[in-house]
Amino acid sequence: MVAHQARTDYISAMTTRYFEHDIFQQHITPPGHPERVDRLRALEEALSADPFAALDRAQAPRAPDEAVLLAHPERFLDKVRDAIPETGMVRIDNDTVASPKSLEAAMHAIGAAMAAVDGVFAGTFDNAFVAARPPGHHAEKETAMGFCLFNTAAIAARHAQKAHGAERVAIIDWDVHHGNGTQDIFWDDATVLYCSTHQMPLYPGTGARDETGEHGTIVNAPLSPGAAGEAFREAFRSRVLDSIDEFGPDLIIVSAGFDAHIRDPLANINLVEEDFDWATGRLIEAAGRHADNRLVSLLEGGYDLQGLAASAAMHINRLMRG
Ligand SMILES: [Zn+2]
Repeated sequence: MVAHQARTDYISAMTTRYFEHDIFQQHITPPGHPERVDRLRALEEALSADPFAALDRAQAPRAPDEAVLLAHPERFLDKVRDAIPETGMVRIDNDTVASPKSLEAAMHAIGAAMAAVDGVFAGTFDNAFVAARPPGHHAEKETAMGFCLFNTAAIAARHAQKAHGAERVAIIDWDVHHGNGTQDIFWDDATVLYCSTHQMPLYPGTGARDETGEHGTIVNAPLSPGAAGEAFREAFRSRVLDSIDEFGPDLIIVSAGFDAHIRDPLANINLVEEDFDWATGRLIEAAGRHADNRLVSLLEGGYDLQGLAASAAMHINRLMRG
């Protein structure tokens, strides 16, 4: 019985690739800025625990500059490139900062997301997590904002379509802030489903239920301040999972922000680690039903170090276990 049990565990485990790179710690923000280098240090510490010894770690490759053009016009790439300082920091907007290595960090985040997509389509691994900074889901077609320069998730989705013939891609965004950028980019694109759970009202102000896109492929499930796991799970079941089943994606991309955690200082949603674990499990099942298990998860927000590290670790552990 013991041997049989062990064999079953072996079969049910998934292979998970974890993308990391030192460059992500070289995107510098000013003291007191929530989107800071310490976030990745806290995650790294959580991943030093036993279950993660089996994690398949890889260096995030750098994407070629033209990868940005999958989701943004060239004049916007030029504008961001021109804004990068040689020393110190510049403000791109009120809360979005660039330091000398920020463009490189963003290009490696994109490269890792694309490599993750390549790997799940090649069958090299079942799923992947990209532990990158800066995040991406607030970046609109022509606007860097909300700590984000380029929309990594959107670029990854378009890469899956262009390089691997994916017909339909679902981007599931449980960051506590609405992914206005991803919504903007895919507003009139019937081939990409964008589903978001987020607090409303909250920055950036978009994400009402009646924002559905030109083809009904934008699905917003706003949560009221103070909402906890039960409300989140109900919204996830009735809006997100049902939409995925109806859409039938070839790939699921997760905009995995962990700032809906109860400890997070930037919002008022009261999720705990187990809620992210639960949602991850439901998406793995959905990827199994529709996408041959293909799931790529990208770190977005999460600003309480303890809440972020514990939640992301549980999310990654669930990706590994299936
Ligand atoms: Zn956020």
